[in-house]
Amino acid sequence: MSIMTRPAPILITNAKILTMDPANPRAEAMLLRDGRIATLGGYAEMEALKTADTRVIDAGGNTVLPGLSENHLHLFSGSAELDHLQLSGIHGFEALNGAIRDYAAAKPDEAVLFAQGADYTILGGGERITRHHLDRIVPDRPFAMFAHDHHTAWANTAALELTDLLHGRELGPGNAVVMGGDGLANGELREMEAFGPIQVAAGFDRYRLGLATGGEPDPYPSGADFEKDIAVMRRGLDYCARHGFTSLQCMDGNLYQLQLLAEIEKRDGFLPLRVRIPFHLKNFMPLSILDKASMMAKTYNSDFLSSGTVKMFYDGVLDSWTAIMVEPYANKPDSTGGDSLFTPDAMKAAAIEIDRRGLQIAVHAIGDGAVRAVLDGYEAARAANGARDSRHRVEHVEVVHPADIHRFGELGVIASMQPPHPPGAMGLPLEPTVSMIGRDRWPYAYAWRTLKDAGAHIPFASDWPVSPIDPMHGIQAAVTRRKWQESDPDQRFTLMEAIAAYTVEGAYAELAEDRKGILKEGYFADVTMLDGDIEASAPEEIHTIRPATVICGGRVTFGGR
Ligand SMILES: [Zn+2]
Repeated sequence: MSIMTRPAPILITNAKILTMDPANPRAEAMLLRDGRIATLGGYAEMEALKTADTRVIDAGGNTVLPGLSENHLHLFSGSAELDHLQLSGIHGFEALNGAIRDYAAAKPDEAVLFAQGADYTILGGGERITRHHLDRIVPDRPFAMFAHDHHTAWANTAALELTDLLHGRELGPGNAVVMGGDGLANGELREMEAFGPIQVAAGFDRYRLGLATGGEPDPYPSGADFEKDIAVMRRGLDYCARHGFTSLQCMDGNLYQLQLLAEIEKRDGFLPLRVRIPFHLKNFMPLSILDKASMMAKTYNSDFLSSGTVKMFYDGVLDSWTAIMVEPYANKPDSTGGDSLFTPDAMKAAAIEIDRRGLQIAVHAIGDGAVRAVLDGYEAARAANGARDSRHRVEHVEVVHPADIHRFGELGVIASMQPPHPPGAMGLPLEPTVSMIGRDRWPYAYAWRTLKDAGAHIPFASDWPVSPIDPMHGIQAAVTRRKWQESDPDQRFTLMEAIAAYTVEGAYAELAEDRKGILKEGYFADVTMLDGDIEASAPEEIHTIRPATVICGGRVTFGGR
């Protein structure tokens, strides 16, 4: 075990500091000491405070921001997937063939080969991928590749045989082993029940437990397995720090993830990022299990590692018609999305009980019907337990009913949104999603400006690994958001609003705005230094500006010239 050494004071100088503190918006230099911001101000004034042991970091005249907060991500599974073949940007059979063959050659001992980030139209020319394409590339080893949204996978015959899926399987609603004309599975696997068996066969389910069941690994990993998981978690933390983050709000979790992070903190003497891990309440759990959520919140309650949020899923996603809508889908007039994962009454009961325990609630709700049911739950909690500063959250809010927009501000509910998600943003195709939503609802889709103007707090995030984690791409997507038709409202954020959504609003969502989210004397020394001047950048070039140095708790976690 290493001994925790106290980092030397750091003077950041020659900087364009955007403090995000309205009382003192700009500074040129800043002194960090003992994990906090000692003081900030003009260049000469700060130089004078330098002592012999001060480490000086010259910002080169570039932008310096409060440490960025990723406000909705899946840390453990995302970290594990970093080891898989990454297919984003790969198009056409030949490119796919080359990428998979190279990857397979480099991984001779893997029981199952995985790829992720595949486009639904990866082959091009309207041809859908099947196991036969994949068999031509990898005939002899199990292989599965995932769509970027993680809702569909495509497997080769060896993987289907390994998991006994080749002849199909009856699954729950929304899940499917898609069959081909020959009476055998064609390789397309829709949703978790369909592709889960392949993840289990590969030993990958441990990383998805926090999402899939909310439960703990059984048997509890020991020896080499535990060390492997520590390494996975470290790789993820490093990846997040390199992208400029100092705070992470995870949206799946279990006790095991907290234990891994606590173990890293114990061994190293510190964590490189502040991490919040929720308890995941599934619809099959009795509410008495919330004792465990309360225990997690009580046990993990530090500035670097915390719990205290209960995550739930109310509906699915638009692209598979499983998001719950108030009115039917525009391209499927007989459906409003089927059954929700919780009934409206179960949602209310859960919200009342979680809120009564003083915990925060964060519920995945994509369709306007789901958003309404979750808001109804929060309203019921307020009626039952009285109003408090609860900061409950709705995750995604991809479509909101106009009648519900005002309720966010009135109930003090946070709308947690993802600038990379709207169709048309960051290279995503417009179809089929915009036709599912339908023109009448376009003004209320991904409506972050509309919600903000109505009084909602809006933290931004990537939902990594669903979208690339890069916050610079996220900021760019927020300020360059395009309308789908001229009559739609302009949903763009200003640059300052977008930065605030990754800083100030992240801290607000964690009830930590008294110590982070802005650069101010006495606040955490969490700082993201960039290699360019973000205010001088053309909006469509923001992604070319990269983190240069990242500091968390006064410690350099990335870069550091
Ligand atoms: Zn998510």
